[in-house]
Amino acid sequence: MKIDIMTLFPEFTRSYTEMSVIGRAVASKKIEINSHNIRDFTLNRQKQVDDAPYGGRQGMLMTAQPIYDCYKSIASKSDKKPHTIFMSPSGTVLTQERVKELSEMDEIIILCGHYEGVDQRVIDEIVDEEISIGDYVVSGGELPALILVDSIARLCDGVLSERAGFEDESHYHGLLEHPQYTRPEVWMGRRVPEVLLSGHHANIAKWKEEKSIERTKERRKDLYERYLQSGKK
Ligand code: SAH
Repeated sequence: MKIDIMTLFPEFTRSYTEMSVIGRAVASKKIEINSHNIRDFTLNRQKQVDDAPYGGRQGMLMTAQPIYDCYKSIASKSDKKPHTIFMSPSGTVLTQERVKELSEMDEIIILCGHYEGVDQRVIDEIVDEEISIGDYVVSGGELPALILVDSIARLCDGVLSERAGFEDESHYHGLLEHPQYTRPEVWMGRRVPEVLLSGHHANIAKWKEEKSIERTKERRKDLYERYLQSGKK
């Protein structure tokens, strides 16, 4: 899996992709992640990458040319057009289901917007999909892109130590995760549920499933309804 991030702040995205779980996956070549500086592609003498929007609105927009040339330099190295995603509050809100589908692709390019956004024409020219991280606005596409990259990377083979590492988690099977406990057995008078200490694997699995369903029903009626309809129950 290869992910190319187009951004005005490559130091920022790199600082994350070089760390922790993702950093180790990159270092051991389980996944390739490159951050490209859009500013390196501007033909403008002042290295300007933004301009005022037509129609007189406040703020600045990223111009099409440097983004397109940055995209071309990445895409020209591939045989087929890499799936290109624009991080945008107008996109489809990201779900674990979509993360899973994206993790099965060979190559993805992610465009991070900044300022007031990006000239629509370059979006129309190169973007296949717009993804939002939720119904709120942050100042740049970098954090949203890193959320996407991280969620994809941890599903790629060999990134987490065991498959169960993510198959057990919230959202993977459409349910929230059951509560978890570690040592000591009693803390501030609160005991770890007895069944978890029993060593009885079937009972433990049953307890986890029940708690998962219970928590989803309590906290996320929408997910619970979908779970019931999926016929898994
Ligand atoms: N004027 C824009 C917001 C610009 S915020 C609007 O109203 O839609 C600057 C950039 O941050 C965006 O271009 C986008 O790349 C990123 N961004 C902000 N909020 C986001 C979100 N919820 N999901 C994904 N990207 C987001």
